[in-house]
Order: sequence, then C-alpha cells, then structure tokens
Amino acid sequence: MRKNIAGIVLLICLLFVSMVSHASDQNPILKADTLAAVYIDAAQLFEVYSAQVADLRKPENKDNLAAIEAGIKQHVPGEFSLSDFFQKTDEFVKAQLFVPDGAIWFSIDSSYRPFLSFKAKVKPLELLEFIENRFGKGEPVPVKKEKDLVEFEIPTPEFKISFALRTDGIYLQAQGEPAIGEPSDKWKDMLQSVADKESLMVAEVDLNNIKALVGRLNSQASHSACFTNIRILSAAIEMYAMDKEGQQMQTLDQKELLAAHYLNAELHCPAQGVYSIDASGEVVCAIHGSIKKPLEISGGSGALTSIPAQFRPFENLKIKVFKSRAEIATLINDKNLREQCVALGKQQLLTARNIAENQMGQLPEAEKQKSLKILDSIKIMEDGQSLKVSLTGVDEKTIIAGVAGFIGTMSAIAIPNFQRARESARAKACGANRRVLAGATEMYEMDTGKTMKELDISTLENEKYLKSAPVCPDGGKYSLRRDSTGIMIDCSIHGAE
Ligand SMILES: [Zn+2]
Ligand SMILES: [Zn+2]
Repeated sequence: MRKNIAGIVLLICLLFVSMVSHASDQNPILKADTLAAVYIDAAQLFEVYSAQVADLRKPENKDNLAAIEAGIKQHVPGEFSLSDFFQKTDEFVKAQLFVPDGAIWFSIDSSYRPFLSFKAKVKPLELLEFIENRFGKGEPVPVKKEKDLVEFEIPTPEFKISFALRTDGIYLQAQGEPAIGEPSDKWKDMLQSVADKESLMVAEVDLNNIKALVGRLNSQASHSACFTNIRILSAAIEMYAMDKEGQQMQTLDQKELLAAHYLNAELHCPAQGVYSIDASGEVVCAIHGSIKKPLEISGGSGALTSIPAQFRPFENLKIKVFKSRAEIATLINDKNLREQCVALGKQQLLTARNIAENQMGQLPEAEKQKSLKILDSIKIMEDGQSLKVSLTGVDEKTIIAGVAGFIGTMSAIAIPNFQRARESARAKACGANRRVLAGATEMYEMDTGKTMKELDISTLENEKYLKSAPVCPDGGKYSLRRDSTGIMIDCSIHGAE
C-alpha cells in the first residue's frame, strides 16, 4: 500500500515537472562549477507507475484504493477524489500531449543557471492549451507559439531563462549557455552510473563548490560593507582636516573623530581587518585594501563559519538508485570523523528498526517480515574515503517506490531551500547598496551643509558621492529615513536594516 502512495507522489511529481518543463537524451553541460546534477529515468518510472495504478484500479483492490484516498485526505486540504484524479490523468495520457520516453536531466551551476531537459513525445501547442484550459492563462506569455514549438522567456536580473516545449521534450536553460558539451572530469563517476542500464536515478551534489559559493557571497557582502566604512572614514578625515586648516590626520584615530562628532560610531571591518591611513592619505583595510587598490579575497576561509558545523566535513553527496540496489555516499576526508559517522549511523539504524518493529504490531506477519527485511538490507560502511549507506537485495518495485517517495521528499525540501538561499544573497546585496547610499548621503550633507529631505540618487551620482547608482537586485525602491543614529536607507522590498 505504501508503494502505491509513493507511485502517486511520483505521478504528481511527473505532472508537476511536465507543466514546468520537458526534453532530450543529451547530458546537460556538467561544468567544473556545476553545483548539482540529477538524472532520472522518467520513462521507466512512468511505466512502473502506470502498471501500479492499473493494478490499484482493479475491482478486487477497491478497499486498498479507499484506504489510500483516506490517507491522502489527511494530508491534502480540500476535496480530493482519487478516482477523479485517475480519470483526469487518463484523459491526459490518452491525448498523448506529453509522454515521457527518456530521461530527466537537471543541473544548476554556481551562478544559479539552471538546465532541465525532460525527454518526451510532446504536442507543444496542444499541451499549452490543455494547461491554459485547466489552470488559466498566466505569466509569462509565450514569446513563440507554434504548433511544434512553444517558448517562454523568464527574466532574472542576471540572465534570461528560456523554457521551451518541443516535440522531443521540454527544456529549460539560461540563454546563451550551450546545452551540451564536454563534462568536467569530476562528473565522470556520475556519467558512468547513468550509463549503467540498471540505473533509475543518479544525483550528485558538489558540496565543496557550494561551500566556496557561500564563501564568495559572504566575502562580497563583507567587502562592500567594509568599503562603505572606508568611505565614511575618508569623509570624516576630510572634514577633520578642513576644520583643522588642512592639518591631515596621520594615524587613524577613530576615538578622536568620534569625540569631535565627525563619526556617529566607531567603524569596524566585518572581517576584522584593521583600518589605517597610508602614505598617500587613503584609508586602507588590512584585509580588503583601499577603494583605489582593493585586495582580492579568496572565498575559502571566511566561508566555513556560515555553514552549519555538521555539514562542513562533507565534500560531496552521491545518490545512486539502480533496479535492485541503491546507495548514498558522501566523501569525508577526516578519518576520525568518518568513523564516528559510521558508528552513529549504525546506531540510528538499529533504533529505527526497533521503532518499526514495535509499530508494525497489527500488520500481517508476512508484511512485517518484508518491511523488516528491507530495513535489514540497509548497510552503513566506510568505502575508501567515503561514508556509504547502501540498500541491496530488494526487488525492483520496492526500489522504484522508494525513489518516488525520495523525489517527492527532496523536491519538497530542496525547492524552498534553494529559493531561500537565492533570496538571502539578494537581500545581502541590497543591504550593501543601502549602506553605500547612507554613507554617500552622509558625506554629501557633511560637505555641502545641506539636508537631503528625500533620497536623491542622481544628485549623489552627479556630485561624485556615488560611482554609480546602486540598484536593488529585486527592483525595490530606496528611500531615506532619519532616526536617532543618523541616516537610514530603506528598500521597498527588503525593508530596513
Ligand atoms: Zn575590511
Ligand atoms: Zn532591495
């Protein structure tokens, strides 16, 4: 019964993916900076799903169907009828608008450029009409709408994403990106597993690259926050020198600037770099350099602190599902830690088995033994430098049901997380913009003695207090506000500090 629920989850996933995208047997371009790649044998899974649904709809399985329906109702709000759902699916399948006949490939690189290809026989225009009839016309509007090609453009601040329904599948990719190419060496193992005829799903996540990306985003944010400090310090020193009849401050003394009200507060580099004044009178940060001579910061070291401790040791994550076995492996170079993880994993597995055994009290003995056998087929071990969890000796249907459940769970977890990561990077960039604007306004007011009633970016730009006008990555509007600590800049989307 649980298998069937998993099958339904799979169909929902397939339909979901089919609405969003669809495509070809070609590999995505697996570059050195690809963060994650997923391969799913959709045609095979779709076949098994169809067989399971057909089985479930036989009259002798009526009770089983009702039990599943009741189970779904507990989790899905509103009216839901499985028979209705099947009937709608039938219409869809019968219309042959979209029939998976190959693989799903998904990948994403460190600039968040997505690639999705879902190989299927598609009737593009009819599929679009089917979706529009059922869900209404929405945004974006197709840029091309022909019988054999429907194309959308999804703009992002950095690049356009093209989404196309073609007769051979559904494709999603960043415009201008080559769809295929020589993969980087590090994806060899994944491609080998994909080439195995038994493989149903293969996924790999490059955690090292993700860590480096987080580090880069953090160091960019810290760089721009530091330079805002430097701009404010430079303005304060300039004011100080003017008021002292041109006597320059030789060594940076923030306490004195503070006491004489050239500064509102002492300023500290977010990366703990020490500020000083160099021979040419420029304010310099020991880590980030000066505005005229910024120093290159490597992403690595500062990165780790922002990653939860338990994820830091993992270098990559590999998930492989074959017809009668599955494995999850992660590279952990630290030997001690690897051994600890294996011991902990074995202990947790034992606990899970005990819990399962107790909860299965009312199940028929045969079902009980079958479930326990699956749990007993899970092994946790060291495999070279990796920690490996494997499931062996199970039948094809069990594995496929497991994969279906896994995909459902993963997409539920991963999609919101990905969005959040992206949103927080944009919010950080916007925050840096707001600090730059506040600093520039402060300098402008100190120099001119005027008070800006409303934020006037073009004046700040024309009078060289800004190199260029900062733009919120999400298109928010900036406005000026004053409070007890001084000038604050708010964003209509990202709010205040
Ligand atoms: Zn600094
Ligand atoms: Zn903003």
